[in-house]
Amino acid sequence: MTKHIFVTGGVVSSLGKGITAASLAMLLKHRGYRVAMQKMDPYINVDPGTMSPYQHGEVYVTDDGAETDLDLGHYERFAGISCSQASNYTTGRIYSNVINREREGGYLGGTVQVIPHITDEIKKAVASLDSPDNDITITEIGGTAGDIESLPFLEAIRQFYHESGPHNSLFIHLTLVPYIRAAREIKTKPSQQSVGILRNIGIIPDILICRTEKPMQDEHISKLALFCNVSKELVIEERDVKNSIYEVPIELAKQELDLKILRRLELEPCELNITNWKNMVDRIINHEKSRVTIAVVGKYISLRDAYKSIYEALDHAGIHNSVKIDILMVEAEELDAAEDFELIGKADGILVPGGFGDRGIPGKLKAIKYARENRIPFLGICLGMQCAVIEFARNVLGHQAANSTEFDKNSPFPVIDLMLAQKSITAKGGTMRLGAYPCELPPGTNAARAYDASVISERHRHRYEFNNAYRNEVEAKGLKIVGTSPDGELVEIVELTGHPWFVACQFHPEFKSRPLEPHPLFKDFVAAALKLHRQR
Ligand code: GLN
Repeated sequence: MTKHIFVTGGVVSSLGKGITAASLAMLLKHRGYRVAMQKMDPYINVDPGTMSPYQHGEVYVTDDGAETDLDLGHYERFAGISCSQASNYTTGRIYSNVINREREGGYLGGTVQVIPHITDEIKKAVASLDSPDNDITITEIGGTAGDIESLPFLEAIRQFYHESGPHNSLFIHLTLVPYIRAAREIKTKPSQQSVGILRNIGIIPDILICRTEKPMQDEHISKLALFCNVSKELVIEERDVKNSIYEVPIELAKQELDLKILRRLELEPCELNITNWKNMVDRIINHEKSRVTIAVVGKYISLRDAYKSIYEALDHAGIHNSVKIDILMVEAEELDAAEDFELIGKADGILVPGGFGDRGIPGKLKAIKYARENRIPFLGICLGMQCAVIEFARNVLGHQAANSTEFDKNSPFPVIDLMLAQKSITAKGGTMRLGAYPCELPPGTNAARAYDASVISERHRHRYEFNNAYRNEVEAKGLKIVGTSPDGELVEIVELTGHPWFVACQFHPEFKSRPLEPHPLFKDFVAAALKLHRQR
């Protein structure tokens, strides 16, 4: 029988609920349990696929093609969990299921209501990961206790907890214990009030995890235990970590959070072995000796979350190459407007990430031209690959009007064009080429060397692709196609010959990078950047 842990948040948003839940999953997995994770997002969009990265941060794509919240990236990176369509539900998705059923006559003349119909649908979503192969599901409830939007989710998990019987479910409340600088004191009142809000709707947290800047003293822990109905040993401190988010599970393990959870759920506490993880964190802390600078030239640069998985994947590659990565976040439009290349002049490697729409394209093309001509290691991802092809067509093949039909429908040289399968699609939301597809790599290229494999699987999220009509011309001048779909039809990776390391891919390698298993392309890209750095 699958047991359930629900993680709610209190006082403020951005407490790191996703990282905390992911850390927990990581620890439980390292105690030998099979763990699944999911996130409930209280907004009305059916999924984040249609939202601007400025609104929502990156859209994380799973193997099965779900467009999801970026917290799922933490789940996969920390716990090596494979997320799926069942790992992210929104209010919009829950309501649309219920409304569709109502339209089909599924409620037999009944009045359809938040309780029980919406809450039943939420409980179904919670139970959707139950299976004999899954010991524990961790469900993170988005939003903050007290939000109107998240009420149906909280009501549903209250019912679920009650119905699942003793020791089968657990509530964890992540809260803020702020430090008031003027008073030089840390304060427990906001947490007491947040637990009060939950208690009003019938939820009493079993465990309190307190995000804090300063160490908590016994008096604070006693106070929280007293006011919140939690035993003292279940008030856990989660202090800000110094070097890396990957320290969080280690800190939580020191307080035996995982062990306490297993006891509450009446699960056998097997041995915890996180030596590899600790070694990895040690490397992060101690690899300050050498540094490389990687410029990421994008259009959502002001929001760090917009390129979350890319920055993480760079860090993973840094850990593996024993270097600290200094990420230069370059706004493509600023680079375009600049007279010179000072914004990227220091970069030992240049990365152009994915994106949509034409804002920032000239700046990205400028960065790619610079990388190509100055032999700076380059990694292009999705739109970054499409831009690399456009830049090559314009400046090497001499087709000044070469473009993607995403930006110029009537381009005389549409080197990037809408995929055939996309031509009849008008609906937005979940309609791109999404999720994992195989890709074949001929031997003897930088890409094949990186992967050390001839067939790989990578995740996609795009509508446009390399236009096969230009294959011969592009390849003849040195931009080689070094990865295709198994039928040879779709270009998945291109690579520049005669350049130290210039690789661009149509898929998103960043989604599959893990701190203990950096992604091969990121790893080799950073290695090439390090080589250049040393030469300089
Ligand atoms: N806008 C491009 C496309 O739809 C690239 C997408 C992306 O970078 N994810 O094909």
